[in-house]
Amino acid sequence: MRTRRRGAVALIAATTLALAACSSDAEEPDAGADGDAEDMDVADFPEGSTMAELAEAGSITIGTKFDQPLFGLVGPDGVPVGFDVEIGRLIAERLGIDDDGIEWVETVSANRETFIENGTVDIVVATYTINDDRKELISFAGPYYEAGQSILTLASNEDIQGPDDLDGKNVCTVSGSTPEQNLVENFPEVEVTPFGAYSDCLEPLKNGQVDAISTDNVILAGFAADDPELEVRGEPFTEEPYGIGLAKDDDEFRDWINDVLEEIYEDGSWTEAWESTAGTVLPTPEPPAVDRY
Ligand code: GLU
Repeated sequence: MRTRRRGAVALIAATTLALAACSSDAEEPDAGADGDAEDMDVADFPEGSTMAELAEAGSITIGTKFDQPLFGLVGPDGVPVGFDVEIGRLIAERLGIDDDGIEWVETVSANRETFIENGTVDIVVATYTINDDRKELISFAGPYYEAGQSILTLASNEDIQGPDDLDGKNVCTVSGSTPEQNLVENFPEVEVTPFGAYSDCLEPLKNGQVDAISTDNVILAGFAADDPELEVRGEPFTEEPYGIGLAKDDDEFRDWINDVLEEIYEDGSWTEAWESTAGTVLPTPEPPAVDRY
């Protein structure tokens, strides 16, 4: 909550500036992969930058999914786990913010831009495809992963093996997602049933209300890994580069997050984050090149 934080930041900034004046050289960010918050302070970041503001506050609000195994799945303690969560934690770490300073907020597909625009969250890491429509409203760092739209059916239903088999079928997806948009725009014969979150599609699939679920392959792989009655069908048929959403035109913050991504590619933290989460089910890819558009 940027606005809530500003008053406190101004106060602390004065103190920190005084302290910084006493200290020697500002420390370089230590790109360790040990999961501890980096030893950062406001002196490491340009004055007035979002990074300085967040580092000062010692807290960051991160929007992620709460219902997607492998990427963002909330546990009984309210803390989500998954690859997106690890990416969020690595960014927070490099601001000197440890786990206690991260507030996780559930974002669903349809509210991500709004939550960034109205300051409910500082960043969104939530299987969030970078595209031009969304870039009109917010900015993206990344990509940090590349997924693709695919299809999930009951394992017992072998009639659907790819998008061409969806004609006349009822397909569940999520409002405000790119797979929904793709189905509506490019597959006019498909009957699209949009829900609020992908986990809402599981029961209708099981009880035969819908024939398939369609979204990113890695989200579907997470559901299938938990349930032998489900199967992912065919090859991905779109490109879904995942980005980190942040306030539009905060170029300094976007550049800095892109730098962090390149650091974590380099120092092994990205691979470690993948292997401990999505990599338990999916092969480990090469990290994609960051797009500094
Ligand atoms: N990556 C797609 C999107 O951002 C689908 C997954 C999702 O809805 O989170 O819309």
